[in-house]
Amino acid sequence: MPELEKIKVGALETNCYIVGKEGKALVIDPGDEGKKIKEMLSQRKWELEYIINTHGHADHIGANSDLKDGGAEILIHPDDAGMLTNPEENLSQFTGGPVLTGPPADSFLNEGNWNWKGEAIKIIHTPGHTPGGICLLWGGWLFSGDTLFAGGVGRTDLPGGNMNALVDSIRGKLFVLDKEIRVFPGHGPETTIGFEVENNPFI
Ligand SMILES: [Zn+2]
Ligand SMILES: [Zn+2]
Repeated sequence: MPELEKIKVGALETNCYIVGKEGKALVIDPGDEGKKIKEMLSQRKWELEYIINTHGHADHIGANSDLKDGGAEILIHPDDAGMLTNPEENLSQFTGGPVLTGPPADSFLNEGNWNWKGEAIKIIHTPGHTPGGICLLWGGWLFSGDTLFAGGVGRTDLPGGNMNALVDSIRGKLFVLDKEIRVFPGHGPETTIGFEVENNPFI
């Protein structure tokens, strides 16, 4: 069984998730504080294999370079890949933090199935917050990035944002999932699909 750790990182309190299995790990959205993430990895004795970015904003990719030191591969949807190396697109140029100019993606996550250590992980392309935003459906867990929050949705007023696309993504691809699925968003507390279908005021 995979095990899940959550660490809040950076000024925007991005939720960085670490999933470990059999001594290996992948990190979802290491937005900042690489040192804290590395400490967790060594505490759990997990070797990092993959860095997955749900999208290319600075607050989700800020520690990519720190974590890549050990040889982990960076995966992102192709439509957001350019943001990894472009400080104007990843918004790091405007947020007062370090200007992020890489490293680039090692490989891409398109919609469909992606397998890691016998785990079938479904990549769901959910454009709207950014063009290449993805959610990861992993058994009963959904990592929703900045697409869906507890009682909220990602903002669509940033470059590449599109409210209609976001609503379509959430209605068409997330709200059709099992109600019991636990949702782990890019910011804020966890929720469930069922709770959001009933209560999310934006959809
Ligand atoms: Zn974002
Ligand atoms: Zn964010």
